[in-house]
Amino acid sequence: MLSKPREQASPVLIIGSMAFDDLELPSGNENDVVGGAATYAAYSASLFAPVQIVGVVGNDFPEATLLNLQQRGVDVSGVERAAGKTFRWKGRYAANLASRTTLDTQLNVFADFRPKLPAAFASTPFVMLGNIHPALQLEVLAQVKKPRLVATDTMNFWIEGERKVLGEVLAKTDLLVINDEELRQLAEDHNIKRAAKRVLGMGPKRLVVKRGECGAMLFDDQGCFFAPAYPLENEVDPTGCGDTFAGALVGYLANAGEIDGNTLRRGLMMAGCVASFCVEGVGTRKTAVLTQGAVSTRLEELHGLVQFG
Ligand code: AMP
Repeated sequence: MLSKPREQASPVLIIGSMAFDDLELPSGNENDVVGGAATYAAYSASLFAPVQIVGVVGNDFPEATLLNLQQRGVDVSGVERAAGKTFRWKGRYAANLASRTTLDTQLNVFADFRPKLPAAFASTPFVMLGNIHPALQLEVLAQVKKPRLVATDTMNFWIEGERKVLGEVLAKTDLLVINDEELRQLAEDHNIKRAAKRVLGMGPKRLVVKRGECGAMLFDDQGCFFAPAYPLENEVDPTGCGDTFAGALVGYLANAGEIDGNTLRRGLMMAGCVASFCVEGVGTRKTAVLTQGAVSTRLEELHGLVQFG
């Protein structure tokens, strides 16, 4: 599964939210669930490579989570503990889990977040810019020295309100990883293939479109690739699935040490496989304890599902 032991892979720098989530799920309400885009991505990337995480938490964020991340090979020295409450997001899922509504967002300490990279993180070769204000994503890029890969995520809020500065980020992005709704909104075109072409014209060298239970697509100079999602029997909570996917993809590339078309295609299959575990438990419960063995077994199964002689 891995090109090298994860400790020997290039490190991955991840910037993004660390949060408490209140979730209204078909199976019931779950409150104070530790989440945040960077948390999910750090857990999944750490299966493949050493991870450095940059974010902010309040005094209420559990020390046990930071310890657990450390035990998984995540350097948390870039996590600032600020006076106040941790970022909080509340969402309600539809009965089929396919759509969700944001009920509340409380920025709390995240409101004043200005990413400050520890000196040791400045030359990290693989960088993942999680979904934060694009101006902050630019601040991060100003602090790193010639990374080999800049992977970027964003969301509807920034596409709607910060298109110009987001454009500056896209111009510096090697790999844009967004979901299909965000793609359509960014391109102002409902058709995925046309929208992808349009977005690639905005700067990113490659584009990955996450489509939930419909899998993921890659658009690059070799054309288009489709990776199916692993069909699950027991879907519990899709929160963080997209971030888990993106973290696994960037971690996989860092482990491979290559960013060519074939590695990216394998990375998409791998990332889909890792993300499927996320959905099987509330919050990071499954991903936080995931093993390479469990991922390999599922990847083989996924591979079997797309063989047709
Ligand atoms: P995903 O399901 O992959 O879109 O990720 C959901 C995670 O993103 C949750 O854990 C939230 O805490 C976090 N999140 C939700 N809204 C925001 C936001 N506006 N900025 C940053 N992170 C967010």
